[in-house]
Amino acid sequence: MKRPVYAANWKMHHGPSEATAFMRTFLSHYKRRSDRTVVIFPPALSFHAVVAELESRPDVVVGVQNIHWEDKGAFTGELSAGIARDAGARLALVGHSERRHIFGETDEQTALKCAAAARAGLVPMLCVGEKLEEREAGETEAVVLRQLRAGLSRLDAAQLATVAIAYEPVWAIGTGRTATPNDAGLVHRTVRAALREIAGDKGAAIPILYGGSVNRGNVVDLLHASEVDGVLVGGASLDAHGWTSLLAAERPDAA
Ligand code: PEP
Repeated sequence: MKRPVYAANWKMHHGPSEATAFMRTFLSHYKRRSDRTVVIFPPALSFHAVVAELESRPDVVVGVQNIHWEDKGAFTGELSAGIARDAGARLALVGHSERRHIFGETDEQTALKCAAAARAGLVPMLCVGEKLEEREAGETEAVVLRQLRAGLSRLDAAQLATVAIAYEPVWAIGTGRTATPNDAGLVHRTVRAALREIAGDKGAAIPILYGGSVNRGNVVDLLHASEVDGVLVGGASLDAHGWTSLLAAERPDAA
C-alpha cells in the first residue's frame, strides 16, 4: 500500500506573514505521522517563510507551483528548477490547468518543465485533466492520455520513476463540483495503464493524485477510489484548521 499524498496548492494566496501564521497553526495541531506524505505548494515569495517553519518537521515537504524549463538565463520574472531546489523545494507542479488555460502553457512546455524539474532533482507533479466541453464530447480519455504522454515524453527511464501525476478535471477545480469516486477511479485506472506502458513495472508505483474541489467531506471516499493515491487540494487547503481537519479524515485501510 502506497502512503497517501495530501498536497495543498495555495495558488496566489498567503503572503509570507500569512504563510508563517498558517504554518504555526497547522504544525501545532498536525502531529507527525509516517503513514502519509504532506506537501505544501506556497506562492514563490512565501516559500522561504514556509520552509523556515519546517526545520524540525521533515514529514511535511514543500514544492513550487511553477518553474521555467531552462536551467538559467535571461528570463525575467521566472524561476528555474535549480533555484527552487536550492530554496528547499522537493517538488514542482507542472501543467496545472490554470497554467494551461489562463497562461497558455502547451503540452510541449509541460514536457520541457517536467524534464527541467527532473534534471534538478525535483519531483515533477504533472497535472492532467479535461475541460467540461471535452468531457461532454466523450474526449476525457483522449485528452488526459495526450497530456500524460506529452508531459512525460522527455524523461528517461530513471526520471520516469520519480514523477507524480495529478488528475484534475478542469470542471471540478474551484467549482465545488467533484468527480464521483467512480468517475475518478475510471480515469485513474486509464492513467495507471498508460503509466505501465510508458514506464514499465515502475509505472505501478507512480503516485496518481486526484484534484478538484476535494474537501473534508469527500476526501475519504476519493482516497478509496481505484488507483487514487492522494489528493491535490486548492480551496480547502487555505485555512490551517480546515487543512488539519481534512488531514484527519482517515483512510480506514491505512492503519
Ligand atoms: C487545484 O488548484 O489544484 C485544485 C484542485 O483546486 P480546488 O481544490 O480549489 O478545486
